[in-house]
Amino acid sequence: MDRTITTVSAVRSVGPDAVAIDLETPDGFDARPGQFVKFSLPAADAAPRFYTVSSPVVDETFEITVEIDYDGELGPHIADLDSGDEVALAGPLGSAYYEDEERVVVLAGGPGVGPAIGIAERALDDGGEAAVIYCDAEPIHEKRLDALADSGAFVRVLEDDGAVADATREAIMAEPDEQVFVYGFADFLDVATDAVEAAGGNAEAAKVENFG
Ligand SMILES: Cc1cc2nc3c(=O)[nH]c(=O)nc-3n(C[C@H](O)[C@H](O)[C@H](O)COP(=O)(O)OP(=O)(O)OC[C@H]3O[C@@H](n4cnc5c(N)ncnc54)[C@H](O)[C@@H]3O)c2cc1C
Repeated sequence: MDRTITTVSAVRSVGPDAVAIDLETPDGFDARPGQFVKFSLPAADAAPRFYTVSSPVVDETFEITVEIDYDGELGPHIADLDSGDEVALAGPLGSAYYEDEERVVVLAGGPGVGPAIGIAERALDDGGEAAVIYCDAEPIHEKRLDALADSGAFVRVLEDDGAVADATREAIMAEPDEQVFVYGFADFLDVATDAVEAAGGNAEAAKVENFG
């Protein structure tokens, strides 16, 4: 879909400096958790940025999750968004997304938790299995992570990356129907792919999205 204007349906705080934003789904738009959109604000003089689908499905609305960087160009404007505001979207983009795999293991750093919960929720809804290893100094989306754990997912929330290798070793079964996903900024991707290899997984087969 080319750049299209749509409307914010709801904004929820999901932790320190973090919001989940429901967007009205434009006509003809569909996406899977893990795909991302090019996002900008017609009312703000700021460059577009990319945000990843964090809802398990796209219905009348879909969700993105943003960790606000108040020193950033777009972040402070996103923090001011309210329902009814207009945003511009293009996409979906990306190839590292959920494709009905039976067992998903998602390693997420910082805002990578958005696609992690979207993918894990969708996999459980589809009758599959899910593991989420989430690393963030100030974790967000605690309610949805707790709900995933209550539904039988393997969930580890880590405040620094020192324990990623151990948690990954617990989660990875290296079975043929298992798919590993990694989402986050570049420094986390290195930690995560090393952890996958050390756990006996295949980091080259992982679906990886670099947030920058
Ligand atoms: C594929 C992809 C998916 C993504 N998905 C998500 C997501 O789901 N959720 C999410 O929260 N984020 C996601 N991101 C990151 C997001 O696109 C933005 O990069 C992020 O929100 C910061 O944007 P900003 O405009 O607020 O900050 P920016 O203006 O980009 O600044 C970021 C930081 O860099 C610093 N900075 C900027 N320019 C300089 C400079 N010249 N020198 C030194 N420091 C500088 C700023 O002070 C700030 O602290 C994704 C990125 C990609 C590439």
